[in-house]
Amino acid sequence: MTTLAGIATSRGLVSGPVFLYRGDGEIPVPEYVVEAGHEEEELRRFERAIVDTKRDLESLIAVLRERTGREDVRVFECHLMFLEDPTFEEAVKYSVTVDHINVEAAVKSFVSKMRAQFSRMNDEYFRERIRDFDDVERRLLRALTGFAQDPHRELKVPSIIVADDLTPSETVKLPRENVLGFATNGGSATSHVALLARAMAIPAVTGLVNVTSLVKPGMTVILDGSNGTITLNPDKQTCELLESALSHRKAAEAKADLGGAPAGTLREGGQVLLYANIHPGVAVSGLKEIGARGVGLYRSEYLWLNREREPTEDEQFEAYKEAVIEASKLSPKASITIRALDIGGDKTVKGISAKEANPFLGNRSIRYLLSNVDVFKTQLRAVLRASAFGKTYLMYPMVSCVEELNEAAVILAEVKRKLDEDNIPYDRNMPVGAMIEIPAAAINADAIAKRVDFFSIGTNDLIQYTMAADRSNEAVAHLYQPTNPAILYLMKRTIAAAHRHGIMVGVCGESAADPIIGVLWAALGIDMLSMSGTYIPVMAKLFRRLSRKDLDEYAALVNDMDGSCTAQDIFESCREWMERKIPDIDDLLI
Ligand code: PEP
Ligand code: MG
Repeated sequence: MTTLAGIATSRGLVSGPVFLYRGDGEIPVPEYVVEAGHEEEELRRFERAIVDTKRDLESLIAVLRERTGREDVRVFECHLMFLEDPTFEEAVKYSVTVDHINVEAAVKSFVSKMRAQFSRMNDEYFRERIRDFDDVERRLLRALTGFAQDPHRELKVPSIIVADDLTPSETVKLPRENVLGFATNGGSATSHVALLARAMAIPAVTGLVNVTSLVKPGMTVILDGSNGTITLNPDKQTCELLESALSHRKAAEAKADLGGAPAGTLREGGQVLLYANIHPGVAVSGLKEIGARGVGLYRSEYLWLNREREPTEDEQFEAYKEAVIEASKLSPKASITIRALDIGGDKTVKGISAKEANPFLGNRSIRYLLSNVDVFKTQLRAVLRASAFGKTYLMYPMVSCVEELNEAAVILAEVKRKLDEDNIPYDRNMPVGAMIEIPAAAINADAIAKRVDFFSIGTNDLIQYTMAADRSNEAVAHLYQPTNPAILYLMKRTIAAAHRHGIMVGVCGESAADPIIGVLWAALGIDMLSMSGTYIPVMAKLFRRLSRKDLDEYAALVNDMDGSCTAQDIFESCREWMERKIPDIDDLLI
């Protein structure tokens, strides 16, 4: 039994078999030294992989023979010949027995030599064969490492998905009913895979070191998304502990009665609005029982992922309308905030996303919409049409300057005029807000506040851009510091500007769901916290135990500190304060 520690990304405790998933990226190839005496064992893996790969190819050839012409079949017959080639077998055997290189590395090295040899040939036909080497290599490596490729065909039982990393589009492709949890090498608590896992209430651990080489397909593992650990081959005693932790959690949840008060109610009166973050495909109706007052962030871009073409105005309208109607049932004054298309960075869309040297600083989000006015207008029309069915707010992502808001306002007015001409109903007063997630916007918050109806602070990106630390890169996760004095300065500046101009300010980044940080934002004056639904009951329990006076005391503690202290100093003081106020906080958090 081994326990690996990573980043606690999405809460929940599960156990199940491993499903090793390659996604659309490269198969990570393990490299290790084969110890003397283990060569035979290593070569047996090679033989088994050859047999399995040949079997797959033969059945593919049989299907193709029935359906298509000779050419297709011939390509795969060549792949079979490659696998049967004695030179190949000899080379791998030599590498394993003499150089003590593992089979995967030996296969890779042989194929790359062949590739180099063929790329030097003058004949186009032979150069084209390089692609065949790639294909055979991929098949063999899949057989050796056990990485699956087509989740819809291969993911048949509820499993824990283990992958090097997953893009948002790979994640949404997975059949939800068979996904128990995620464990990845890459990523962090604010990467988009993490956000998806949270929105889908799937436990996840990211930032693990080499988990893909340490597990085998089908191996039983326990994944603890709250502690950020994964235990491989758990023994009987650990499995029993898991059972007891699960029943303890059920009891704690039953105890978490808020006494009939809406989620976000403070002790002795007052409240912090708790809203949910969702994306198309997540049922809004389930949010009522966990206490969400409304939807604070609807990530519309997920309508674009994994499609061959852009969603039409009607397709968008239908999706938004359904979400608007369902969201309006969440509470008496419920609303839904639809965020305009936020693509770019790690959210790439086939056919739309241009190749850019620096996609995180590129033509993304509102910039993309302003440079693709037709796409923007289509979305605006669909959102406005949906606004006739319930309280709808619209917000623009990645606003960096007032010029963008001025331009967007002109386009929005034009779309409204056209809807009037067409006699199509919509909410003429639909509030329009700006996400504050670029440092320039936070610094210039006063000017921005004059042009919008609300702010929503995207701390996931605000921290990333302020600290220049990629939110998905575990190597710089230590710099991803919500309590860094620079972040606190920008938060306070934004909150003050919003309130000076009489507009609401919320936080929709994942930090809203962090018991220490989310409560800190509320203490500093944030009106609304929007988070993945599973975290709402936890935050509701915390706020029910705190009064407005407590929050003022918490804010004063931090106000006295920042500027001269490190992020860690501030965080530790916050933690101590919280533990003093709520000594049983650990019980509330499980
Ligand atoms: C954010 O940046 O905090 C945010 C909510 O937007 P996203 O995570 O979708 O980039
Ligand atoms: Mg963002």
